[in-house]
Amino acid sequence: LVKGKREVKQLTNISIVFIFFLPQPTVKLFIDGKFIESKSDKWIDIHNPATNEVIGRVPESTKAEMDAAVSSCKRTFPAWADTSILSRQQVLLRYQQLIKENLKEIARLITLEQGKTLADAEGDVFRGLQVVEHACSVTSLMLGETMPSITKDMDLYSYRLPLGVCAGIAPFNFPAMIPLWMFPMAMVCGNTFLMKPSERVPGATMLLAKLFQDSGAPDGTLNIIHGQHEAVNFICDHPDIKAISFVGSNQAGEYIFERGSRHGKRVQANMGAKNHGVVMPDANKENTLNQLVGAAFGAAGQRCMALSTAILLVERQSCLFLPLPLFVLDSLSFRFIFRDQPGADLGPLITPQAKERVCNLIDSGTKEGASILLDGRSIKVKGYENGNFVGPTIISNVKPNMTCYKEEIFGPVLVVLETDTLDEAIKIVNDNPYGNGTAIFTTNGATARKYSHLVDVGQVGVNVPIPVPLPMFSFTGSRASFRGDTNFYGKQGIQFYTQLKTITSQWKEEDASLSSPAVV
Ligand code: NAD
Repeated sequence: LVKGKREVKQLTNISIVFIFFLPQPTVKLFIDGKFIESKSDKWIDIHNPATNEVIGRVPESTKAEMDAAVSSCKRTFPAWADTSILSRQQVLLRYQQLIKENLKEIARLITLEQGKTLADAEGDVFRGLQVVEHACSVTSLMLGETMPSITKDMDLYSYRLPLGVCAGIAPFNFPAMIPLWMFPMAMVCGNTFLMKPSERVPGATMLLAKLFQDSGAPDGTLNIIHGQHEAVNFICDHPDIKAISFVGSNQAGEYIFERGSRHGKRVQANMGAKNHGVVMPDANKENTLNQLVGAAFGAAGQRCMALSTAILLVERQSCLFLPLPLFVLDSLSFRFIFRDQPGADLGPLITPQAKERVCNLIDSGTKEGASILLDGRSIKVKGYENGNFVGPTIISNVKPNMTCYKEEIFGPVLVVLETDTLDEAIKIVNDNPYGNGTAIFTTNGATARKYSHLVDVGQVGVNVPIPVPLPMFSFTGSRASFRGDTNFYGKQGIQFYTQLKTITSQWKEEDASLSSPAVV
């Protein structure tokens, strides 16, 4: 029997057909180093977004289970914080190797639960792995500062110390990368960690936790709970949790930032986006089109750094741009096949509700006067007719007051605006509340410099459509895309997960043992 399939048994002696449902596989909690079954009576179904079949169930952890998880983090903190930094570094060094060895299995779980193509899923793991690799440099990253001889016989120095128990709340769209932005960075600094993965895609996090344990992380230093609002409220309110890392929507992020801050915690919240690509008439056309197509439609547009808005500078020859995406997309659509088949370009959206929302936003474009150049709403994928697929869609003649421009669509939809000048394009971008990412496509360095300089967005690409910084830098979304004051990973990540202790010490020279007697 295939797990999760309906089994029908006929009990002939009483001539009644009973339908039994085999229990779905359940996602375990990870508490005190053990994967344990929740005692919860509230469970959430996990669906395969390509078929909408239920493939498992995740618990809403009970209060007692969540308390046990925090207690475990709290109890193990002193010993872990006292573990030498070289030993913690060794755990991370083993961890990066185990992630590499298991990359395909983690990617397989991501594709099953999240729906992205296998190639995208491997990229998801790979980008998280880069953060783990960078965390291995903790011995440099956590260095303090010194100032000798600030006055006679007196020195000043500061240490970076861990905070205690930290917690992470993750979204569905990068099931491996985003948890890997959180617990490895926090834990290499000496913190213990409570992770709450997205209830829609917990599988990758559970395997990552097992690999972390196999790398030598002591039992109880990493704990995992599951759930939705109650688990989030628990994290925001618990007095033993010192810091919260959140990535997800604005609705949840603003709430968690306010509630967590009110309870005295550090909170960093990476949130939604509306990223603009400004296409100058002098841009390299082929390169720009390829970049736009990949960045707008890749991962079905379910990326916070998706380049979901193009601003075309309409003067001179730039009108050549519009027919060309159609041509590119025409060829792309032939490869619009199920997510884990070789060569697949697109997967489904995460839920039927997400699909409905995206389709409604496309509808709103037509109602408000925009034109649909390419319409992916009615696409059907052979063999996966029940999946949440939406094909690549282009909406043109879009104005900044339209709903499809104002809302984050989070689907494979490119909205296209037109302007006459670079200054107008900059104004549009800066008037938009979000500040996650943007890109300019041009062959003119002065134009690129002016744009990068004047645009009020945290991450800028010059002929690079998705300018996510490598982990030696930090992920620096701004304005409505971020709340907090220190960003994820890189130096900022280390700052977020540590506090400074500054020591001023005086050791009088005349007190030194075995000194020569003072010469008089
Ligand atoms: P989401 O906000 O629905 O869920 C994120 C987490 O918050 C989940 O763990 C969920 O259980 C919890 N949650 C959801 N609603 C909540 C509520 N009302 N109150 C308390 N907790 C709640 O986000 P999602 O749909 O999983 O992810 C997509 C969003 O995340 C998009 O807006 C995307 O732009 C954003 N995102 C941002 C970044 C970034 O770095 N800026 C990266 C990835 C995703």
